[in-house]
Amino acid sequence: MNLPSQARIVVIGGGAVGCSIAYHLGKLGQKDVLVLEKSGLTHGSTWHAAGLVGQLRSKRNLTRLMQYGVQLYGKLEAETGQATEWKPVGSLRLASSEERWSELKRMATTARSFDFELHTLSPKEAHDKFPLATSEGVVGAVFVPNDGSVEPSSLTMAYAKGARSSGVRIVENVLVTGFETEGRRIKCVLTDQGAVD
Ligand SMILES: Cc1cc2nc3c(=O)[nH]c(=O)nc-3n(C[C@H](O)[C@H](O)[C@H](O)COP(=O)(O)OP(=O)(O)OC[C@H]3O[C@@H](n4cnc5c(N)ncnc54)[C@H](O)[C@@H]3O)c2cc1C
Repeated sequence: MNLPSQARIVVIGGGAVGCSIAYHLGKLGQKDVLVLEKSGLTHGSTWHAAGLVGQLRSKRNLTRLMQYGVQLYGKLEAETGQATEWKPVGSLRLASSEERWSELKRMATTARSFDFELHTLSPKEAHDKFPLATSEGVVGAVFVPNDGSVEPSSLTMAYAKGARSSGVRIVENVLVTGFETEGRRIKCVLTDQGAVD
């Protein structure tokens, strides 16, 4: 696709985050969205990621965001026809100090307050779940049954496919080099192939 000369919303970068933003803007009914990627989709850090999806975070909002991600990964493949290799196999977090154990328990209490499913385990219970891990020095553990793993590049391609089907335009091999501003507004996105108003 050639570089359009105008767009209402320009997303810079076609990694997992940029393509997710484009997908969600498309879902919200935004029709005039353009993604610019200097290389190819998923050619940044997304390509290197292991794809581990852990929902339990130190902040309530981040956990809820990750919860939403897991719900979405469960249906994105059926929606877009692009495999994501989402595998909700569960995750185990080990605490190897009293301080870390207190932190995990605090996170668990917050998460339980909005019906997030997790189980606190003794070192022996954690070892029984995953015998390859040593229980030496382990104070406690948290098991989240519906954490899992996803294939990051495929996930990004699924977002991109979903975004395109909502009318989002994605152009690869375009390097954004700067912006022209007018007050607090970005008037123009500058690229190595011309400007986008
Ligand atoms: C080794 C490794 C393992 C990881 N493991 C995990 C994991 O298990 N679980 C997890 O959740 N996270 C993991 N991460 C983190 C995860 O990869 C990143 O959080 C995620 O990929 C970030 O996505 P992004 O879209 O913000 O960035 P990127 O994927 O880097 O995308 C940014 C894109 O912007 C493009 N770009 C940059 N500048 C410009 C420009 N000027 N013009 C146009 N395009 C531009 C780049 O080419 C790139 O494609 C891991 C990361 C690494 C490196």
